[in-house]
Amino acid sequence: MNDAPDSAASATENEIIWQDALIRRLRFYRDLGITDFYRRETPAELQAALARSASAAVSAQPSPAGAANTAVQEAAISPKPPTTLFTPSRVVLEPAARPAALEQLRAEIGDCTRCKLHAGRNKLVFGDGNPSARLMFVGEGPGADEDAQGIPFVGRGGQLLNNMISAMGLRREEVYIANVVKCRPPGNRTPEADEGATCSPFLMRQIEIVSPEVVVALGQTAVTWLTGQKRPLNAWRGTLHSVLGAKLIVTFHPAYLLRDPNQKKFAWEDLQLAMRELGLRAPQRG
Ligand code: SF4
Repeated sequence: MNDAPDSAASATENEIIWQDALIRRLRFYRDLGITDFYRRETPAELQAALARSASAAVSAQPSPAGAANTAVQEAAISPKPPTTLFTPSRVVLEPAARPAALEQLRAEIGDCTRCKLHAGRNKLVFGDGNPSARLMFVGEGPGADEDAQGIPFVGRGGQLLNNMISAMGLRREEVYIANVVKCRPPGNRTPEADEGATCSPFLMRQIEIVSPEVVVALGQTAVTWLTGQKRPLNAWRGTLHSVLGAKLIVTFHPAYLLRDPNQKKFAWEDLQLAMRELGLRAPQRG
Protein backbone atom coordinates (compact mmCIF):
# COMPACT_ATOMS: atom_id res chain seq x y z
CA MET A 1 0.00 0.00 0.00
CA ASN A 2 1.28 3.43 -0.93
CA ASP A 3 1.02 5.91 1.92
CA ALA A 4 2.61 8.85 0.11
CA PRO A 5 -0.63 10.93 -0.09
CA ASP A 6 -1.11 10.57 3.69
CA SER A 7 2.49 11.63 4.29
CA ALA A 8 2.09 14.67 2.04
CA ALA A 9 -1.13 15.66 3.81
CA SER A 10 0.55 15.22 7.15
CA ALA A 11 3.49 17.44 6.07
CA THR A 12 1.06 20.16 4.96
CA GLU A 13 -0.84 19.86 8.22
CA ASN A 14 2.41 20.20 10.16
CA GLU A 15 3.35 23.32 8.19
CA ILE A 16 -0.02 24.87 9.01
CA ILE A 17 0.43 24.01 12.68
CA TRP A 18 3.89 25.61 12.74
CA GLN A 19 2.68 28.71 10.94
CA ASP A 20 -0.20 29.02 13.37
CA ALA A 21 2.23 28.58 16.26
CA LEU A 22 4.49 31.30 14.92
CA ILE A 23 1.62 33.74 14.38
CA ARG A 24 0.31 33.15 17.90
CA ARG A 25 3.76 33.53 19.39
CA LEU A 26 4.41 36.81 17.53
CA ARG A 27 1.06 38.15 18.74
CA PHE A 28 2.03 37.14 22.26
CA TYR A 29 5.34 39.05 22.00
CA ARG A 30 3.54 42.06 20.60
CA ASP A 31 1.13 41.97 23.54
CA LEU A 32 4.17 41.97 25.84
CA GLY A 33 5.54 45.02 24.01
CA ILE A 34 8.42 43.07 22.46
CA THR A 35 8.89 43.72 18.77
CA ASP A 36 12.65 43.38 18.20
CA PHE A 37 14.09 39.90 18.33
CA TYR A 38 16.08 37.45 16.30
CA ARG A 39 15.74 33.77 15.68
CA ARG A 40 18.29 31.20 16.77
CA GLU A 41 18.16 27.73 15.22
CA THR A 42 18.38 24.68 17.39
CA PRO A 43 22.13 24.50 18.20
CA ALA A 44 24.12 21.84 16.32
CA GLU A 45 25.33 20.47 19.65
CA LEU A 46 21.72 19.96 20.79
CA GLN A 47 20.79 18.36 17.46
CA ALA A 48 23.71 15.93 17.84
CA ALA A 49 22.77 15.15 21.45
CA LEU A 50 19.16 14.49 20.43
CA ALA A 51 20.33 12.16 17.67
CA ARG A 52 22.58 10.28 20.12
CA SER A 53 19.79 10.04 22.64
CA ALA A 54 17.27 8.79 20.07
CA SER A 55 19.68 6.13 18.86
CA ALA A 56 20.41 5.03 22.45
CA ALA A 57 16.67 4.78 23.08
CA VAL A 58 16.27 2.25 20.27
CA SER A 59 18.42 -0.26 22.13
CA ALA A 60 17.32 0.72 25.64
CA GLN A 61 15.52 -1.76 27.87
CA PRO A 62 12.01 -0.80 29.04
CA SER A 63 12.07 1.08 32.32
CA PRO A 64 11.34 -1.06 35.36
CA ALA A 65 9.12 1.78 36.51
CA GLY A 66 7.06 1.29 33.35
CA ALA A 67 3.83 -0.56 33.05
CA ALA A 68 2.42 -0.21 36.53
CA ASN A 69 2.93 3.53 36.58
CA THR A 70 1.70 4.14 33.09
CA ALA A 71 -1.93 3.61 34.01
CA VAL A 72 -1.56 5.93 37.00
CA GLN A 73 0.17 8.61 34.96
CA GLU A 74 -2.30 8.27 32.07
CA ALA A 75 -5.19 8.77 34.46
CA ALA A 76 -3.77 12.15 35.44
CA ILE A 77 -3.35 13.43 31.86
CA SER A 78 -5.34 16.55 31.05
CA PRO A 79 -7.21 16.87 27.79
CA LYS A 80 -4.74 17.20 24.95
CA PRO A 81 -3.58 20.78 24.63
CA PRO A 82 -3.20 22.47 21.29
CA THR A 83 0.15 21.91 19.61
CA THR A 84 0.61 25.61 19.10
CA LEU A 85 2.78 26.26 22.14
CA PHE A 86 5.96 24.75 20.80
CA THR A 87 8.41 26.52 18.54
CA PRO A 88 11.61 25.11 17.08
CA SER A 89 13.78 28.05 17.97
CA ARG A 90 13.94 30.64 20.71
CA VAL A 91 14.63 34.26 21.34
CA VAL A 92 17.85 34.61 23.34
CA LEU A 93 18.38 37.57 25.65
CA GLU A 94 21.71 38.64 27.08
CA PRO A 95 22.03 37.43 30.69
CA ALA A 96 22.10 41.01 31.99
CA ALA A 97 18.71 41.67 30.40
CA ARG A 98 16.98 38.62 31.84
CA PRO A 99 16.02 39.88 35.34
CA ALA A 100 14.29 42.92 33.87
CA ALA A 101 12.60 40.77 31.21
CA LEU A 102 11.22 38.48 33.91
CA GLU A 103 10.03 41.50 35.88
CA GLN A 104 8.38 42.86 32.76
CA LEU A 105 6.66 39.55 32.15
CA ARG A 106 5.48 39.44 35.76
CA ALA A 107 4.11 42.96 35.36
CA GLU A 108 2.31 41.94 32.16
CA ILE A 109 0.66 39.04 33.97
CA GLY A 110 -0.39 41.49 36.68
CA ASP A 111 -3.37 40.65 38.85
CA CYS A 112 -4.36 38.11 36.25
CA THR A 113 -7.95 37.10 35.62
CA ARG A 114 -7.34 35.50 32.23
CA CYS A 115 -8.58 32.09 33.35
CA LYS A 116 -10.95 30.83 36.03
CA LEU A 117 -8.14 29.76 38.38
CA HIS A 118 -7.82 33.37 39.51
CA ALA A 119 -11.04 32.99 41.52
CA GLY A 120 -9.52 30.70 44.16
CA ARG A 121 -6.08 32.23 44.23
CA ASN A 122 -4.45 33.64 47.31
CA LYS A 123 -1.09 34.50 45.71
CA LEU A 124 -0.06 34.16 42.10
CA VAL A 125 3.07 31.99 41.88
CA PHE A 126 5.21 33.36 39.07
CA GLY A 127 8.56 31.57 39.42
CA ASP A 128 11.69 31.50 41.51
CA GLY A 129 15.43 31.30 41.05
CA ASN A 130 18.33 32.41 38.92
CA PRO A 131 17.19 34.36 35.84
CA SER A 132 20.18 32.91 33.93
CA ALA A 133 19.98 29.39 35.31
CA ARG A 134 21.51 26.57 33.29
CA LEU A 135 18.86 24.24 34.68
CA MET A 136 15.14 24.89 34.93
CA PHE A 137 12.48 22.75 36.60
CA VAL A 138 8.89 22.92 35.44
CA GLY A 139 6.04 21.66 37.60
CA GLU A 140 2.29 21.58 37.23
CA GLY A 141 0.84 24.30 39.43
CA PRO A 142 0.90 25.74 42.94
CA GLY A 143 -0.38 23.75 45.91
CA ALA A 144 -1.68 25.13 49.19
CA ASP A 145 1.75 26.13 50.58
CA GLU A 146 2.80 27.76 47.32
CA ASP A 147 -0.53 29.59 47.07
CA ALA A 148 -0.02 30.94 50.59
CA GLN A 149 3.59 32.07 50.04
CA GLY A 150 3.63 32.96 46.32
CA ILE A 151 6.72 30.81 45.77
CA PRO A 152 6.84 27.55 43.79
CA PHE A 153 7.71 24.26 45.46
CA VAL A 154 7.82 25.26 49.12
CA GLY A 155 5.68 22.47 50.61
CA ARG A 156 6.68 18.85 51.18
CA GLY A 157 7.12 18.37 47.45
CA GLY A 158 9.32 21.45 47.44
CA GLN A 159 11.50 20.01 50.19
CA LEU A 160 11.95 16.88 48.13
CA LEU A 161 12.78 18.97 45.07
CA ASN A 162 15.34 20.89 47.14
CA ASN A 163 16.89 17.55 48.13
CA MET A 164 16.97 16.46 44.49
CA ILE A 165 18.70 19.71 43.55
CA SER A 166 21.25 19.26 46.36
CA ALA A 167 21.92 15.69 45.24
CA MET A 168 22.85 17.13 41.85
CA GLY A 169 25.45 19.33 43.53
CA LEU A 170 23.46 22.52 43.05
CA ARG A 171 21.78 25.06 45.28
CA ARG A 172 18.16 26.00 44.75
CA GLU A 173 19.20 29.60 44.05
CA GLU A 174 21.22 28.35 41.07
CA VAL A 175 18.24 26.89 39.21
CA TYR A 176 14.96 28.39 38.02
CA ILE A 177 11.60 26.89 38.95
CA ALA A 178 8.20 27.59 37.43
CA ASN A 179 4.86 25.91 36.82
CA VAL A 180 2.50 25.42 33.90
CA VAL A 181 -0.22 27.42 35.67
CA LYS A 182 0.52 30.26 38.09
CA CYS A 183 -2.58 29.94 40.24
CA ARG A 184 -3.62 27.02 42.41
CA PRO A 185 -6.22 24.69 40.89
CA PRO A 186 -9.00 23.89 43.39
CA GLY A 187 -8.15 20.84 45.47
CA ASN A 188 -4.82 20.57 43.64
CA ARG A 189 -6.56 19.06 40.64
CA THR A 190 -4.82 18.84 37.27
CA PRO A 191 -5.14 22.11 35.33
CA GLU A 192 -7.89 21.93 32.74
CA ALA A 193 -7.19 22.41 29.05
CA ASP A 194 -8.42 26.00 28.88
CA GLU A 195 -6.39 26.91 31.98
CA GLY A 196 -3.20 25.37 30.61
CA ALA A 197 -3.73 26.93 27.20
CA THR A 198 -4.23 30.37 28.75
CA CYS A 199 -1.36 30.28 31.23
CA SER A 200 1.35 28.14 29.62
CA PRO A 201 2.48 30.85 27.16
CA PHE A 202 3.83 32.68 30.22
CA LEU A 203 5.86 29.60 31.10
CA MET A 204 7.19 29.38 27.55
CA ARG A 205 8.21 33.02 27.75
CA GLN A 206 9.99 32.33 31.06
CA ILE A 207 11.94 29.55 29.37
CA GLU A 208 12.87 31.84 26.52
CA ILE A 209 14.03 34.57 28.89
CA VAL A 210 16.04 32.29 31.20
CA SER A 211 17.37 30.28 28.23
CA PRO A 212 18.38 27.25 30.29
CA GLU A 213 20.51 24.53 28.77
CA VAL A 214 18.34 21.85 30.34
CA VAL A 215 14.67 21.86 31.29
CA VAL A 216 13.47 19.10 33.61
CA ALA A 217 9.73 18.51 33.32
CA LEU A 218 8.31 17.30 36.61
CA GLY A 219 5.44 15.00 35.76
CA GLN A 220 2.89 14.44 33.07
CA THR A 221 1.22 17.83 33.01
CA ALA A 222 4.52 19.67 32.63
CA VAL A 223 5.76 17.63 29.69
CA THR A 224 2.34 17.67 28.01
CA TRP A 225 2.21 21.45 28.01
CA LEU A 226 5.90 21.88 27.20
CA THR A 227 5.66 19.73 24.11
CA GLY A 228 2.01 19.88 23.11
CA GLN A 229 2.06 16.09 23.00
CA LYS A 230 0.29 13.68 25.31
CA ARG A 231 2.13 10.44 25.98
CA PRO A 232 2.61 8.27 29.07
CA LEU A 233 5.33 9.69 31.28
CA ASN A 234 7.54 6.66 30.88
CA ALA A 235 7.50 7.10 27.11
CA TRP A 236 9.32 10.41 27.68
CA ARG A 237 11.76 9.32 30.36
CA GLY A 238 15.33 8.23 29.75
CA THR A 239 16.00 10.16 26.54
CA LEU A 240 16.59 13.75 25.56
CA HIS A 241 13.87 15.83 23.97
CA SER A 242 13.90 19.53 23.20
CA VAL A 243 11.92 22.61 24.08
CA LEU A 244 12.69 26.10 22.81
CA GLY A 245 16.33 25.22 22.11
CA ALA A 246 16.92 23.58 25.51
CA LYS A 247 17.36 19.89 26.20
CA LEU A 248 14.21 18.52 27.77
CA ILE A 249 14.41 15.72 30.33
CA VAL A 250 11.34 14.23 31.95
CA THR A 251 10.94 12.78 35.41
CA PHE A 252 8.32 12.25 38.07
CA HIS A 253 6.66 15.08 39.98
CA PRO A 254 7.94 15.27 43.59
CA ALA A 255 4.36 14.89 44.87
CA TYR A 256 4.16 11.57 43.05
CA LEU A 257 7.51 10.52 44.55
CA LEU A 258 6.17 11.31 48.01
CA ARG A 259 3.27 8.97 47.34
CA ASP A 260 5.49 6.24 45.88
CA PRO A 261 9.06 6.56 47.23
CA ASN A 262 10.05 3.39 45.32
CA GLN A 263 10.19 5.54 42.22
CA LYS A 264 12.88 7.84 43.64
CA LYS A 265 15.67 5.68 42.24
CA PHE A 266 14.24 6.10 38.75
CA ALA A 267 13.92 9.86 39.26
CA TRP A 268 17.58 9.90 40.26
CA GLU A 269 18.42 8.18 36.96
CA ASP A 270 16.60 10.99 35.16
CA LEU A 271 18.47 13.64 37.15
CA GLN A 272 21.76 11.95 36.38
CA LEU A 273 20.92 12.30 32.70
CA ALA A 274 20.44 16.04 33.30
CA MET A 275 23.73 16.15 35.21
CA ARG A 276 25.57 14.49 32.35
CA GLU A 277 24.21 17.05 29.91
CA LEU A 278 25.27 19.87 32.24
CA GLY A 279 28.68 18.34 32.99
CA LEU A 280 27.85 18.06 36.70
CA ARG A 281 29.14 15.53 39.18
CA ALA A 282 27.27 14.46 42.29
CA PRO A 283 28.90 15.78 45.47
CA GLN A 284 31.01 13.27 47.44
CA ARG A 285 29.25 12.00 50.54
CA GLY A 286 31.41 12.52 53.60
S1 SF4 B 1 -3.51 30.50 36.12
FE1 SF4 B 1 -2.37 31.87 34.77
S2 SF4 B 1 -3.87 32.57 33.24
FE2 SF4 B 1 -5.02 31.69 34.96
S3 SF4 B 1 -5.48 33.46 36.27
FE3 SF4 B 1 -3.57 32.54 37.05
S4 SF4 B 1 -1.90 33.67 36.00
FE4 SF4 B 1 -3.84 34.09 34.90
